[in-house]
Amino acid sequence: MGVIRSEQDLERNVLTTTLERLVAWGRGNSVWPAQFGLACCAIEMMCAAGSRFDISRFGSELFRASPRQSDLMIVAGRVSQKMAPVLRHIYDQMLDPKWVISMGDCASTGGLYNNYAVVQGVDKIVPVDVYVAGCPPRPEALLHGLQLLQRKIQTRTTGAAARAT
Ligand code: SF4
Repeated sequence: MGVIRSEQDLERNVLTTTLERLVAWGRGNSVWPAQFGLACCAIEMMCAAGSRFDISRFGSELFRASPRQSDLMIVAGRVSQKMAPVLRHIYDQMLDPKWVISMGDCASTGGLYNNYAVVQGVDKIVPVDVYVAGCPPRPEALLHGLQLLQRKIQTRTTGAAARAT
């Protein structure tokens, strides 16, 4: 860093922030998903972790086998009524703060499973932060959803309105 002679020099050379923003930045860039998949959408989720799509670019390659080490649930696939209490149980065991991505039409609305055996939207079981549309959504769509979630985490924590559109 050179000699600071003016206010402009100061702005160019010194970075200031708040602890809250710093924590939100770190938190948003180190979201760890629970290792959890329900149906065909889970195959696309697994692809997102492979070398071609490389979810580790966004700090989320650590799919954890224990919900106690996870702060993101990716609901990848249709949720049967039988599975719903299990899903809620896993969500309850996850760390706080925690987030949910609903991946695919079946998870978000029941999709083509318009019947009594499948939950018609996982938001009836857990609060959803980001919806990713498609049947199935491609890995890039999931990565886009993850980026929206990161933005939401970083803006919501600092009090700004979350924009996940
Ligand atoms: S949205 Fe399509 S790919 Fe995903 S679980 Fe439903 S049927 Fe399978």
